[in-house]
Amino acid sequence: MYDLEKIRGDFPILSRQVNGKPLTYLDNGASAQKPNVVIEAINQAYSHEYSNVHRGLHYLSNLATEKYEGVRGTIAKFLNAASEDSIVLNSGTTEGINMVAYSWAMPRLEAGDEILLSVMEHHANIVPWHFLRERQGVILKWVDTALDGSLDPQAVIDAIGPKTKLVAITQCSNVLGTVVDVKTITAGAHAKGVPVLVDGSQSAVHMPVDVQDIGCDFFAITGHKLYGPSGSGAIYVHPDRMAEMRPFLGGGDMIKEVTKDAVVYNDPPMKFEAGTPGIVQTIGFGVALDYMMSLGMENIAAHEAGLRDYAGAKFAGLNWLNVQGQASGKAAIFSFTMEGAAHAHDISTILDKKGVAVRAGHHCAGPLMEHLGVSATCRASFGLYNTKAEIDTLIDALELAHDLFA
Ligand code: PLP
Repeated sequence: MYDLEKIRGDFPILSRQVNGKPLTYLDNGASAQKPNVVIEAINQAYSHEYSNVHRGLHYLSNLATEKYEGVRGTIAKFLNAASEDSIVLNSGTTEGINMVAYSWAMPRLEAGDEILLSVMEHHANIVPWHFLRERQGVILKWVDTALDGSLDPQAVIDAIGPKTKLVAITQCSNVLGTVVDVKTITAGAHAKGVPVLVDGSQSAVHMPVDVQDIGCDFFAITGHKLYGPSGSGAIYVHPDRMAEMRPFLGGGDMIKEVTKDAVVYNDPPMKFEAGTPGIVQTIGFGVALDYMMSLGMENIAAHEAGLRDYAGAKFAGLNWLNVQGQASGKAAIFSFTMEGAAHAHDISTILDKKGVAVRAGHHCAGPLMEHLGVSATCRASFGLYNTKAEIDTLIDALELAHDLFA
């Protein structure tokens, strides 16, 4: 049973007040709150178990290494990767995608080659590819969403041409909540010999993920959205792609041997992990994933589907609210604008006065904003601890904002 009251009790911040009102935290798409188990794990690591990893022969270093390395297996289980050797630990999705751009794409793409993106991508899955455009003449090719915010997988497959060298696509839009059929896209892309990178930053939070079932080549996740610490994350890399990748950052840990004239790299995945990593952040990330798995990803998805449907019905009753993106099966993420002159920032300021935290702005999705013809939206994004009562609070606060601005 999904014991929402107990779950909310696991997150100490949810019982605080903001501006004299109980906190209604609906900015989970930006970053999620942390359960006690994660906070305690961080405290425990720094208080009793801290040392650098991989380097020492002393007790604490071995203990920290064991805890840190254990997270690789936890992530592999969370993503259903065949082996933990396919998991490169990093600071988050931004680093993961940049690694693919530098290590895999940069050495093999030439001027005129194409990278295929959807118009819904986050800047983290756009700007690294712009680097390749600027430096080596790679072309960014875009697939638009339909009017309801859905993305036809066949449209993506059809857009793959002889020059396409990579499809880089989100599994869930951080703005619209649209869920993308990345499994069909991967099958179609592979049939044309093109690898697929999936940005799983948002999707892995809301639904079970199985990278073997999707069949993708890269799958990036970020710890702080998965109820873990910021500065933690990982990318799944298929062994065939891993073998093709050049090292990313150079430094300690990613080598076996260094002489004045030569360097022998470590075996993957450590070949792609240079320097002292986010040790405690990663340990906390592992605990966060265990926490999610203990609740059950299917149960989290079912709970959030209930929130999505409830919020969707409430929003539908507000004829002055324009909700962007109504694709069926979307995640519980809603972006909206209000009729009249109210800017998203003004709306979010009014909501904040009522203790309701939402995001306002372009959501690091410039091309999508352009496609939608808006400069900014407000976004309410739900997490595993949100309630229908909080949706009512949001609606009341929106009605207040509408009364003020109408
Ligand atoms: N991709 C998507 C879809 C996101 O929503 C985000 C964060 O908002 C990112 C990538 C970047 O994640 P991070 O900033 O944790 O690297």
